[in-house]
Amino acid sequence: MSHSPATRTTPFDTLLVANRGEIACRVMRTARRMGLRTVAVYSDADATARHVREADEAVRLGPAAARESYLDVEAVVEAAQRTGAGAIHPGYGFLSENGAFVEALDAAGITFVGPPASAIAAMGDKSAAKARMANAGVPLVPGYHGDDQDDALLKAEADEIGYPVLLKASAGGGGKGMRVVESGEQFQAALDGCRRESQAAFGDTRMLIEKYLTQPRHVEVQVFCDRHGNGVYLFERDCSVQRRHQKVLEEAPAPGMTAALRREMGEAAVRAAKEIGYVGAGTVEFLLDFSQGQDGSFYFMEMNTRLQVEHPVTEMITGQDLVEWQLRVAMGEALPLAQEALTITGHSFEARLYAEDPEQDFLPATGTLTRFAMDLAGAGLDPERVRLDSGVATGDAVSMHYDPMLAKLIVHGDDREQALATLNRALAALDVQGVVTNRAFLQRLATHPAFQGAELDTRFIEKNEATLFAPRQYRIKEYAGAALVGLNQLARECESDSPWDRHDGFRLNAPHTIRIALCDPAHVQDDESSDNVVVVEGRRERGTDTGWQLTIRGETLTASLQPLEGDAVAVTLDGHRRRLQARRDGNVVVMVDPSGETRLFWRRIDAIDHGHHEAESTLTAPMHGTVVALLVEAGQKVEKGMPLMVMEAMKMEHTMTAPADGHVASFHFQAGETVGQGDVLLEFAPEE
Ligand code: ADP
Repeated sequence: MSHSPATRTTPFDTLLVANRGEIACRVMRTARRMGLRTVAVYSDADATARHVREADEAVRLGPAAARESYLDVEAVVEAAQRTGAGAIHPGYGFLSENGAFVEALDAAGITFVGPPASAIAAMGDKSAAKARMANAGVPLVPGYHGDDQDDALLKAEADEIGYPVLLKASAGGGGKGMRVVESGEQFQAALDGCRRESQAAFGDTRMLIEKYLTQPRHVEVQVFCDRHGNGVYLFERDCSVQRRHQKVLEEAPAPGMTAALRREMGEAAVRAAKEIGYVGAGTVEFLLDFSQGQDGSFYFMEMNTRLQVEHPVTEMITGQDLVEWQLRVAMGEALPLAQEALTITGHSFEARLYAEDPEQDFLPATGTLTRFAMDLAGAGLDPERVRLDSGVATGDAVSMHYDPMLAKLIVHGDDREQALATLNRALAALDVQGVVTNRAFLQRLATHPAFQGAELDTRFIEKNEATLFAPRQYRIKEYAGAALVGLNQLARECESDSPWDRHDGFRLNAPHTIRIALCDPAHVQDDESSDNVVVVEGRRERGTDTGWQLTIRGETLTASLQPLEGDAVAVTLDGHRRRLQARRDGNVVVMVDPSGETRLFWRRIDAIDHGHHEAESTLTAPMHGTVVALLVEAGQKVEKGMPLMVMEAMKMEHTMTAPADGHVASFHFQAGETVGQGDVLLEFAPEE
């Protein structure tokens, strides 16, 4: 195969990754597998970060602020020269779509793993990009993207397109300088506002106008081009679930896609890439309109000239490693596969785990990860089907300097339903402590009926806000689980080191009743009479060490909690056993199962009640052993605390004492007899 004249690649054996977090780790993983030496770069805030730990070598760029480190072109080029890195992978964000950076690398003779500077520039301006796309026969949202920026002309164009319209800054990005205009009367004010914003953000006031689609889906096509004129598409991703134009859940393939539409969109995307002389991995974003009367019209939105955050869903359904493709193309090789050789297998989802608080308007969160783990085996998950791309590990700090995305959870299934079930199990198995995350919110999204039904559009979160953020309704099983954790903690606190040496007779004199109040942690102030608070009565099941009888809202059930490995526990309610993760965060019990995360605050609302329960009329054996002696006669009056019976177990003698003033009504065992754990030893009659 002959190299085109523009080809200028030097073979490289060392790759510098000019990024941090999960993407730096992910790129290095493939680079290592391909036998390349890896170089990380870091800011002072990241000196011991995971991407630095995993790299063969690492070079400090500067202080924590991105401007002075990850965005410092000179420092990055210098780091490459110092380490002999022949190529730089930019990841996403930072310098990935910076034409000046690419030119600096060209000048230094370092290979940029990405497109030429000219292709980045061609997509940098929205109006110019639209003009070129129209040229290449790529469908555009009806609208105006001309040079004439006269107010009256723009208004006339908007009237012509028909309201609502969307005003966008030509130089824009990140949603800045963008406004929906509902009617002609609002137009001038919106135009003035957008121009001010655009001037402030981009130093440019040019605007374009688009028809505003009210229920579009965000469907993007992964394209790949090499330096030999080959271009393919690796199908599409649906990224409609967004908040503030930030993607949250992505999937591939897009639900409801037909083979014909897929081919049409894919070919349009490849045309778009070829039009601008593209090389490497790129994404052409479309709005896809399935709303009434629309049978899948699609319109070019923009092209991202880099590897996307959500590229793993494409890898899952195609079985290809896109970073390997990028590196091969950067080395001057031809694309590994032709279009006909690419196929879709199954369905994939990606959920983005952010350090942020959904309950507080998604405010970014910081802190130290006291635990960051995922127990795949414990959750019965197939490691082939679940992938966690993360840039952090237990013990790492999450600072406010960078993007709050901690990790991406990617799953694969034979079909959408199976993949979604796996996503939910995997989200439940993800154990993140120490930093607030959106994990529970992701679970609410992924279990939402509208998401399960693939009723997708870019306003999904907005539309379903009422149900996604509704005040939490708890179920009996959740109250029961939290109550058990609380009760068992109380039971443990009542026990001293030796199970025999207890003064309050907690277990010996069980069962007695303990009352616990449970509520949403947001309602801790409320008292027990409030609707937000539920009172659970717990009483030891007779003859067991772990069982309880719970009364919750008038319902009585037999309940027990069995610790499993790690934070996993089994909660059995009336013979129905369920596995979940449970941990205590002070007085808050955090429980996670495939249906989501539950947090309940508990407090005890009585003292141990020794008094007048028929329940206290028995004494049970705390463990297997032998009766050594009976110390009183049946019927004899005794005072509270007086020794009644001696048992031997594990080569030690243990004395049962009277739980209250009263008398022993009858002994069930004689000296010399063996007793099993939980056997009733004697009937005790407390004084009236
Ligand atoms: P930016 O570059 O500022 O992110 P985009 O042009 O990529 O702006 O648009 C961002 C988001 O706005 C899209 O993902 C989509 O959800 C929405 N959007 C853009 N254009 C339209 C349109 N014509 N109609 C409806 N929604 C749109």
